[in-house]
Amino acid sequence: MTNIANLGFPRVGTKRELKRALEAYWAGDTSGEVLQDTARDLRHRHWTLQRDAGADIVPCNDFSLYDHVLDTAFLFDAIPERYRALADADPLAGYFALARGTQKGGYDLHALEMTKWFDTNYHYLVPELTGDQVFRLRGDKPVAEYLEARALGLQARPVLLGPVSFLLLAKTVDGSDRLELLDRLLPVYAELLGRLKAAGAPWVQIDEPCLVLDLDGDDKAAYRHAYAALAKADRPKLMLATYFGDVGDNLSLVRELAVDGLHIDLVRAPAQLDTVLLAWPRDLVLSLGVVDGRNVWRTDLDRALVLARQARDAIGSASLELAPSCSLLHVPIDASLERSLPKEIHDWLAFAREKIEELRILGDALDGKLQAEVALLDARGRQDRRRHSALVHRPDVAARLAAIGPSATRRQSAYPERQQAQAKRLGLPLFPTTTIGSFPQTHEVREARAQNKSGKLSDADYDAFLAAETEKCVRFQEQIGLDVLVHGEFERNDMVEYFGEQLDGFAFTKLGWVQSYGSRCVKPPIIFGDVRRPKAMTVRWSQYAQSLTDRPMKGMLTGPVTVLQWSFVRDDQPRSATCRQIALALRDEVLNLEGAGIGVIQIDEPALREGLPLRRADWKTYLDWAVEAFRLTASGVADETQVHTHMCYSEFNDIMDAVAAMDADVISIETSRSRMELLDAFVRFRYPNDIGPGVYDIHSPRVPQSSEMTDLLEKAVAVLKPQQLWVNPDCGLKTRGWPETRAALEAMVAAAQAMRAGVAAAA
Ligand code: GLN
Ligand code: ZN
Repeated sequence: MTNIANLGFPRVGTKRELKRALEAYWAGDTSGEVLQDTARDLRHRHWTLQRDAGADIVPCNDFSLYDHVLDTAFLFDAIPERYRALADADPLAGYFALARGTQKGGYDLHALEMTKWFDTNYHYLVPELTGDQVFRLRGDKPVAEYLEARALGLQARPVLLGPVSFLLLAKTVDGSDRLELLDRLLPVYAELLGRLKAAGAPWVQIDEPCLVLDLDGDDKAAYRHAYAALAKADRPKLMLATYFGDVGDNLSLVRELAVDGLHIDLVRAPAQLDTVLLAWPRDLVLSLGVVDGRNVWRTDLDRALVLARQARDAIGSASLELAPSCSLLHVPIDASLERSLPKEIHDWLAFAREKIEELRILGDALDGKLQAEVALLDARGRQDRRRHSALVHRPDVAARLAAIGPSATRRQSAYPERQQAQAKRLGLPLFPTTTIGSFPQTHEVREARAQNKSGKLSDADYDAFLAAETEKCVRFQEQIGLDVLVHGEFERNDMVEYFGEQLDGFAFTKLGWVQSYGSRCVKPPIIFGDVRRPKAMTVRWSQYAQSLTDRPMKGMLTGPVTVLQWSFVRDDQPRSATCRQIALALRDEVLNLEGAGIGVIQIDEPALREGLPLRRADWKTYLDWAVEAFRLTASGVADETQVHTHMCYSEFNDIMDAVAAMDADVISIETSRSRMELLDAFVRFRYPNDIGPGVYDIHSPRVPQSSEMTDLLEKAVAVLKPQQLWVNPDCGLKTRGWPETRAALEAMVAAAQAMRAGVAAAA
């Protein structure tokens, strides 16, 4: 009998029940008990769902009120000093203070830093440690949730983030070495494992996703040391879980670790099965991640079965488990609840529930159960229909892409010539001012959109509303004296969804929520087929806005890599191929904007960096096609049309070549929070084109002084040519209110004027 095990399940609930409960609790409308009740209900519902879908082993302690890395830090009492009094007095309030900061009850605490969980769109809170860190068990969440699941009669397997990944994902704030803390941490892991054993847990899933990364000698030594120590503990059996990639060159290290089972990701890295099976020790359990935990497509069960049979023939089914490639946290819960998708597309989808059902079929097929045959036949039919669907394959898209030559990804002239042509056309002053695109998405704007969507506001009235908002925004920008204006993006719900809704090849779910962080969920579009642009998408609003003013109006687009990165993408062709299709559709849009008289066009790529593969060896391939896609989007225009790009993050050191190769005329970046430090990368590289280093942080309602911005600009002028510099905020203003937006932008314009005066005086 082959066991079906799940590694983790979404937490928020199909209707985002957890989000609602959290927000009510944060607002002070409900008590902590009510929140915990909702959480318990969700756990129970999700466990039963998994069991009913066919899981033999369900995960527990994968649930979190906010984030599992924060849970781990909290559990081991890795609570920075400033939060401690609150955490001691009111653990729940302390926990959320770490997660999101607090300004209640006389406290003024920032949240912990948040960052992306490997290459997913899930964000975890970065534990903050010090060299003299003391770890001890605080509470008994893993044990309590294990007992909870067992009380329902389930075979549950507690999930713990492993000690080495925990430390590697954390940071120290005093310059000490994280891994030096291992010896302090291991006794607490041993104690916890002992308690889980005493509670009756036969197995624990210990997640060490860092085993798929490039590890140095110290990391490897830490792994050896940690698992040698845990081998001595009186503990349940350990299923060591790796995911998100190939164990690769870490396999010999993994073989040295004294665990009782190993999970490998065979979706991202199917080829590793061969190497893993070589010299597999008979007494170890092997868990095969054969169903994609990162995407929404039904599995090619025949292909998965080949892998499962290969493993079974090599090691026997008693030591075999079938599982998703990783936790199902990254997919929505239940595709059967989607009622409005086209039937044909709906048939191809598997969310968490359907993925467990697929594993059940695979397990039954492996064990030779007859009922699996019918299910396999059905699955084969779906694969077949998808493979041949006219919705997926549009020959005209392939034909156009095939006809594209190398000149399509090159601007007509090199930057210096373009710069002259653009200067002549635009006639901008030194230190030109602009914004990143969006202006406040007020309650009114969102309300009008919702009303239009539900049919309560007619299209004509909604249009009139948007026109009025846009005009107000243009007048506002003129009045405060910005040089390059934007239309304000009032018509856009989301920077990817807005484009996806207008492109062929995209589908949208009603309940396809995925947790981004804490209570924040996103509903990524599903790219199911060849991407095509039936008609212009943004020209109308940009053209209208330009008609209102003599100043240059900047057209605003989301770049191909960002559209790709923030969607569920096809698994039947490489990501690079889908990205090229999106790029081609956006190229048409760029040309239409240019044709409509728009002389400045910004193509946002905030997700370019996060698309970087986990292993350095794979970076170049990715960056090559990502840059190529951007260039395909941007390069059709004449020299005098100015192309901007925007990236709202700060780590450019690793990707500077690629950023320069994009060859945008102007790039705006996040610099205000790091006080221009990240300009270093641009300076070291001698970035040749124009740069707009964000001069203030739009993520905070705080209004900056003009002098703060001139200080930052002085720093920039010290290392770059004044002719290279633009003045802008560090991201879009959609989350801000109007009063602070006005005050901040007025101060920003004043800062630019002061800089111009300074240069004039020096000359
Ligand atoms: N143009 C977008 C805006 O201003 C850019 C958003 C982003 O960088 N994430 O909102
Ligand atoms: Zn941004």
